[in-house]
Amino acid sequence: MSSSYILRGTAANHTLRIFATDSSTLAGETKRRHELTPDATAALGRLMTGAVLFGLTLSKHEKSRISIRVEGDGPLRYMVAEGTVSEELKGGHASARGYVGNSSAELPLRATDGKLDVGALVGKGELAVTRLLENGEPYTSSVALQTGEIANDLAYYLAVSEQIPSAVLLGVYLEGGEVHTAGGLLVQVMPGADDEHVEIMERNIAALGNITTALRNMSLLELVQRVTEGLGLELLEESLPLSFACRCSRERLLSTLTYFSLEERKDMMAQGGQEAVCHWCNTHYHLTPQEIAGLDDDMDGEQSEMPVSRGVQA
Ligand SMILES: [Zn+2]
Repeated sequence: MSSSYILRGTAANHTLRIFATDSSTLAGETKRRHELTPDATAALGRLMTGAVLFGLTLSKHEKSRISIRVEGDGPLRYMVAEGTVSEELKGGHASARGYVGNSSAELPLRATDGKLDVGALVGKGELAVTRLLENGEPYTSSVALQTGEIANDLAYYLAVSEQIPSAVLLGVYLEGGEVHTAGGLLVQVMPGADDEHVEIMERNIAALGNITTALRNMSLLELVQRVTEGLGLELLEESLPLSFACRCSRERLLSTLTYFSLEERKDMMAQGGQEAVCHWCNTHYHLTPQEIAGLDDDMDGEQSEMPVSRGVQA
């Protein structure tokens, strides 16, 4: 399994923007962390790959973090993915994290083609994209799910909510129950693009077929070259590394205990401490009675406005 990375470029005199990622190790680590079924891995792997691709499209004036929540009536219930792109460090890097409502969700393979049935796993519902505006305020916009297959839903979101015609390909391929290949491609048609160029790009994408099949047969660079064949590809940089990363910490989970009453916290201490789990990365923290006791002094009168959750979130 290759490592996860991203390629960015433009074609047809900057009127087409191309973002491509190999997210094989990212999907593999997500499966392992959350002990996901192959079905849930395919669904969340696609959404996390999509969140990273969306994060790449943000202008530098926006905070380069995006979260996408999908809520459906299928057995998966819901899933959330967050993609973060940092240009600040030398060379830059991207990361993602995510979780699902039901990690053991699974369905029979689709009768028509023998593939994992992500559409039925997700069901009918809504897709909501939240981004941080320049002033740090979150802005959310949502659309109805079209197929629940995620790539189509994200393309629909971009067309409707952002008026940017886009092609989105996402795929997670498992072999022997483990992630073998995962990846995604996002091409955006910018204002002023020539119809003829768009048609060439559409033909190139159609010839590519399934993205995971393509990535099993060629490198990410070859894939980007195929998509932009005849259109003059200009690569932005060699590659941008992509990894699973969570922003949780012991301190952050400990601070969420301040939303419980003093009495509840005394209860936790009497029981030898409190287990806290980060939803995003499934890291388990055992918060000791001493740490919880220390919280009383530090946090006295300093309650912030996060919602209370016994599940404890970061
Ligand atoms: Zn975490």
